[in-house]
Amino acid sequence: MKKIITFLILSLFVINSHGQKPAETEDWSRKPEVVTPGKCTLPPSDAIVLYAGAEDLGKWTNVKDGPVNWKAGEILTVKPKSGGIKTIQSFGDVQLHIEWRSPEIIEGKGQGRGNSGIFLMSKYEVQVLDSYENETYYNGQAGSLYKQHIPLVNACRPPGNWQAYDIIFTAPRFKDDGSLDSPAYVTIIHNGVLIQNHVELMGPTVFIGKPKYKSHPEKLPLMLQDHNNPVSYRNIWIRNL
Ligand code: MG
Repeated sequence: MKKIITFLILSLFVINSHGQKPAETEDWSRKPEVVTPGKCTLPPSDAIVLYAGAEDLGKWTNVKDGPVNWKAGEILTVKPKSGGIKTIQSFGDVQLHIEWRSPEIIEGKGQGRGNSGIFLMSKYEVQVLDSYENETYYNGQAGSLYKQHIPLVNACRPPGNWQAYDIIFTAPRFKDDGSLDSPAYVTIIHNGVLIQNHVELMGPTVFIGKPKYKSHPEKLPLMLQDHNNPVSYRNIWIRNL
């Protein structure tokens, strides 16, 4: 008790000796908006629902701005060789929730097994791959920032099971002269497990060579990859940050 009293007296002395008050470091400048969270992974009240069933297909086009040829019902499934799809709306900094499922019947191996991808701003790929007991280069497995960052752990469920990514993305900023002002950052939670912790992207995803930033618009569509495997998606929602 004596120790506690001494500590409190000393603390008061420290505060006063600098002429500062606790209230000086209280930040009242921005009241966080009240948001009603959804049940489990259902969209919260301020989310833009991008896919909750075939009725949402109107929010998407194929990458060549034509109709989406993927199989659309309660879930959305890649139709191999029909091409990737993208949102009509463009996005910059976002929180994205997306659920995906690789085919239950295993076909192919390595990069050929349950491959798709979530391209933030149509440029920065979060890899979708059946990485359950399926070895490939680590910076190309599920949850990697393709060819840039290996996930912290492998949180993959077996093929045929639904999996969730919760992605927090900070878009890169460019100066007026086109040079990079600040790079893109990504955080990913895979099935409730942190697998990428605010990692810095070196530039847009490239298959060959080193990534390099090139100035682009502040907002661009979200793109989903057709990598010739019938990967499915559902419950896709996004929040502008
Ligand atoms: Mg991919």
